[in-house]
Amino acid sequence: MLEKTGKKYNIDKIKKAYLVAADLHKGQYRNSGEEYISHPIAVAEIVASLELDTDSICAALLHDTVEDCGSKVSVGVIKKEFGDDVAALVDGLTKLVSIPFEDKQEQQVENLRKMFLAMSKDIRVIFIKLCDRLHNMRTLDAKPEYKRRQTALETMHVYAPLAHRLGMQRIRAELEMLSLSYLDPIGFNEVKSDIEKRYGKNRDFLEKAKASIDMKLRESGIHFSLEGRVKSVYSIYRKMYAQNKSFDEIYDFYALRVIVDTEPECYSVLGVIHDMFKFMPGRFKDYISTPKANNYRSLHTTVIGRDGIPFEVQIRTWEMQQIAEYGLAAHWKYKSGEVSREEVDRKLEWISKLVENENETRDPDEFINALKVDIFQDETFVFTPKSDVITLPTGATVIDFAYAIHSEIGNHMVGAKINGNIVPIDRVVQNGEIVEVLTSQASKGPSRDWLKIVKTGEARTKIRQWFKKEARADNILIGKGEIDKIFRRFQYQLTDSQRQGILSSVASRMNISGTADDLYNAVGYGGVSVTRLQSKIKDEYDKLIKSSDAAVLPVSQTPVAVPKQERSRSGVIITGIEGGGSIEVKFARCCNPIPGDPIIGFITKGYGISIHNINCPNVKQNRIQAGGTERFVPVSWDNSVKPDSFSLTVQVVSKESTALLANITAVLADMKVPVSGIYMPKSDQGQMKLNVTVAVKDLAAAKAIAAKLKAISGVSDVSRVMAGE
Ligand code: MN
Repeated sequence: MLEKTGKKYNIDKIKKAYLVAADLHKGQYRNSGEEYISHPIAVAEIVASLELDTDSICAALLHDTVEDCGSKVSVGVIKKEFGDDVAALVDGLTKLVSIPFEDKQEQQVENLRKMFLAMSKDIRVIFIKLCDRLHNMRTLDAKPEYKRRQTALETMHVYAPLAHRLGMQRIRAELEMLSLSYLDPIGFNEVKSDIEKRYGKNRDFLEKAKASIDMKLRESGIHFSLEGRVKSVYSIYRKMYAQNKSFDEIYDFYALRVIVDTEPECYSVLGVIHDMFKFMPGRFKDYISTPKANNYRSLHTTVIGRDGIPFEVQIRTWEMQQIAEYGLAAHWKYKSGEVSREEVDRKLEWISKLVENENETRDPDEFINALKVDIFQDETFVFTPKSDVITLPTGATVIDFAYAIHSEIGNHMVGAKINGNIVPIDRVVQNGEIVEVLTSQASKGPSRDWLKIVKTGEARTKIRQWFKKEARADNILIGKGEIDKIFRRFQYQLTDSQRQGILSSVASRMNISGTADDLYNAVGYGGVSVTRLQSKIKDEYDKLIKSSDAAVLPVSQTPVAVPKQERSRSGVIITGIEGGGSIEVKFARCCNPIPGDPIIGFITKGYGISIHNINCPNVKQNRIQAGGTERFVPVSWDNSVKPDSFSLTVQVVSKESTALLANITAVLADMKVPVSGIYMPKSDQGQMKLNVTVAVKDLAAAKAIAAKLKAISGVSDVSRVMAGE
């Protein structure tokens, strides 16, 4: 059959593909009992009938080898034997197989179709896939009942519309007809027998009309071909059920098609037809001057024949006929040698026209779900583990995915899996991947770093919302720090009540109601910009100075409540300052010192003393920035106090392993160490990093944990995490 097309095929390559496929499928059988290789051969024959190229035929022969033959063959082997193109086609086809389909909402189905297109970078993948599906539909009888229904549904909703949009009407019509016969066998047979009855009654109608037209056209001297047909069962079924028409209301039940050589001849033929028959107003369509979105071109007119029976006449050139039946695939032909990829791309331009023309078309139904290949570059389609399709902007990460599912999922996210493998949470998702979010109720919530990673506004908003609500205590501290900084910057010397007065005026001007904490909170989560706040504080201060004669007290006279507490509640003795036991102490969150660590105190301007690990990068930096060491004080651990627990974060570096997370949690559970957070930072290929935050009582406990973690197989390093690292 290849010889028949008169094209230059690489027959040796096709033979080799056949031999390889036959060998790999040896011993495999289809449900029908036939040898499996009969299926790829049939698919290759359909592909050849579309006059696709050698590589497409090879890919059709090999299309099930990677999927069905398991470890026997890989895409790499195909690449070596048949080249990059065939390998890419087979790989594309194999990936499409794993797209799951269930009976879904229309929007989900539309997303599935888009995903198909987005995943098939090479349009030949879709062509071959449609041929594969066509053969599966032709042999669907051999499958069990539930499988038949599911396959037919999928064909009707995904494959037939794709064939339609690619302009492959012959394949589309057969797919629809076969699907319908499985989905509604009763309705299908009813319409079929109606057609037979009707056609039987007017058996000679079409033949007579054809004969009279044939005679007239011969007289005109135009070279033409004429064929008559009865509308397909599916299109009549659809008109009757979807458009609720009766059998008599279907005007294009009979149709004649005239095919000529040139475009002007189309219009000449139209003139001849309209001369012979009365035409139905409003039913003439010129798709030659205004092609349909799928590149379909033809003249359509409906005329009244003998006994007042209407029939449709379609007039087109041979080229238009090819495109009508095979659509884009018709463009793939190489008339003289190989058609270049660029030329095909140029022909694909009509797809982008779909988008432009969408609003100005006469038949909106045709375009409702129009194919928009060229806008897909902005969208990525991925699956949830329950195979719902989620659409994300291209470049979105697994964090975006988590928040797209639900804010609770995002807020409790501790890691993610893609196609079953653990990935870093900043991993960008790709078309067709199955993404699973790992959550833990122990998670402390999102990290502020995520705001820099996420791509979608939705995720960013939800993360901010979390910080607004859940991290109130932290926000208040951060906000208070910012406000303290402003007062220090201006070097205002105010009493506590003056300061409170200014802040409450500022808060009410900014529509923040409640206590000072609410203002701090708003500053902390970023709801109020520090710059705006600064100018408002300055305003209020100026007002205060002008309106009040009250002396502004210098700092030294500010009354301060001195707590009478001698013991260090905190477990830290401040040796450098007299009465150190009464000073507020807080452990720096950057390095989280634990008892046993070498520590140092830093005199903050707002909250007393913060305790850092001597090796903390912030200490080194502050020593430079603060211009010396005068704000650092020596401190030591007070061993007489037993504090509850300290937070420790360690980084575990391992070679890639799906079991790592499970192994770590098992070790920690075994040691009865409470885990308060797990985070997976970005890591190099082949490597995995996991940051685990646990509660410990001292350095000895921390060392014991590190030793156990280091003993896990695959782990190469365990180290303490401090800020700045
Ligand atoms: Mn197949």
